[in-house]
Amino acid sequence: MKKKHFAYIILFGIIVFISIPILHLVKTYLSEDKTKIHTPKGYTNDASRLDLTSVDSIVNVPTTKTEMINQLREIIQYSTLKHIPISIAGAKHSMGGHTMYPNGIILNMRPYKNMQLDTINNVLTIGSGALWEDAINYLDSFHKSVAVMQAFSSFSIGGSISVNGHGWQKTSPPISSSVVSFSLMNCKGEILNCSRTENKELFSLVLGGYGLFGIILDVKLKVVDNENLQFKLYKLKATEYLSYFKKYASDDKNVKLVFGRLNISEKNFLENATLDVFRTSTIAQQKKITKPNHTLTEVKRLVFRNSVKSEYGKKLRWDLETAMGGFANNDCFSRNEILNDNVALIENKDTSSTDILHEYFIPERHFNEYIAALKNVLPSKSIDLLNITIRGVYKDTDSYMRYANENVFGFVFLFNQKKTAAQEVEMKRLTQQLAEMAVRMEGTYYLPYRLQIDKKTFRKSYPQSEGFFKLKLKYDPHEVFKNKFYDYYK
Ligand SMILES: Cc1cc2nc3c(=O)[nH]c(=O)nc-3n(C[C@H](O)[C@H](O)[C@H](O)COP(=O)(O)OP(=O)(O)OC[C@H]3O[C@@H](n4cnc5c(N)ncnc54)[C@H](O)[C@@H]3O)c2cc1C
Repeated sequence: MKKKHFAYIILFGIIVFISIPILHLVKTYLSEDKTKIHTPKGYTNDASRLDLTSVDSIVNVPTTKTEMINQLREIIQYSTLKHIPISIAGAKHSMGGHTMYPNGIILNMRPYKNMQLDTINNVLTIGSGALWEDAINYLDSFHKSVAVMQAFSSFSIGGSISVNGHGWQKTSPPISSSVVSFSLMNCKGEILNCSRTENKELFSLVLGGYGLFGIILDVKLKVVDNENLQFKLYKLKATEYLSYFKKYASDDKNVKLVFGRLNISEKNFLENATLDVFRTSTIAQQKKITKPNHTLTEVKRLVFRNSVKSEYGKKLRWDLETAMGGFANNDCFSRNEILNDNVALIENKDTSSTDILHEYFIPERHFNEYIAALKNVLPSKSIDLLNITIRGVYKDTDSYMRYANENVFGFVFLFNQKKTAAQEVEMKRLTQQLAEMAVRMEGTYYLPYRLQIDKKTFRKSYPQSEGFFKLKLKYDPHEVFKNKFYDYYK
């Protein structure tokens, strides 16, 4: 009888243990208002959801090249005649009005996504409106994969090149390093081929040029093999990160993808870290990418959203991710499967708040000092920090407005803020403080995010910016291509 009682108590304990987190996830699901926000006709917005802007028109480019070129030339002529600036939009995941100008024309490049693989030279020619997920799905059938891209596959090729994004490909410079060449329509409607040998200056300006020098049409990108990769998760103290990174990532030639994460729950804030590593696997049989599992994506999303304004949720997420990571140790995935993650995984369905990204690039010599300094600034009292990931970015030798002047670590912060005036003031203060801190550590901040950093800090971060804006006027003297980012910083 006693044994039976004991079994009931254990069973009850297990039910309570499982049902508390499940109840939290259900509560998160029910608390989301799920109202789809529709951008009113005549307006546009970007991923910040804080950039609602009235526009002259939004033009979807045609899918075929000849038609697109004819249409773009007509638009450029019209824009020059009427003095209505043109902004260029890809997937619009930038957050500072980079894809819009008040009462301007917006080119939606998304429909233009032709692709062709040169299997002899391993070079993909791709329309600038294509998303990485289009490229991955296409390359998968050739057993090839993308060389350098961001952490999600929901971004366009044109947008990614124009911010010169980076990912978590080990010891890799930003995306520019994988660009062989591209064709660009300039402010006169001429098409120029740009590479490291042809129109060199323009090549370096357009990479990370935020759509200010012309319209990128087709891009030639180096591709790599779609290898099988084996996962390994290491749990460590944040102060041990550099030694773990060296031992288990940079010194191991078989490691292809690597990122780190810092614990952001109040208990052990920025004290614990993980290093997530993918190594070339000995398993030869290639896996095909499968269709996304929507239920699993939704569960992962709820675990993520449950951490908003909840210490319990933050702890739960950290525990689940480190425990699940432990369970998945040695699991094998194809490179394409790993790279093909959609931003839906973290989607915020609450219409009263928005998620805002920041990224700061810090040289290795200041790594530990930087984390220690962060503890004095974060967590903010009212802005909720949801995530910090760490990626190594190697020196960029291709782009003009480069953020990786040497090998650096990118610290990516995801915050949640309410859409209120008070939270705007608080976010601006925090952003300025974090940018100044990065400059003090001989680092830089990333430009595709909100326009909340003052010009003095901008010039310190990007001493080459004066030259950049002078060259903008050399190549586009009548400022045909404009956006809010240009207006703010020029
Ligand atoms: C959830 C989230 C995660 C992110 N993760 C990463 C990450 O891991 N690494 C990283 O580096 N960044 C990351 N970012 C930033 C993101 O990479 C940039 O915002 C990038 O611009 C995304 O591409 P896009 O297609 O959305 O570009 P858009 O926002 O559409 O455009 C960005 C810029 O490119 C220009 N542009 C677009 N297409 C063209 C074209 N055809 N010709 C000329 N100019 C063009 C636009 O005018 C604009 O200035 C992230 C952003 C979000 C919201």
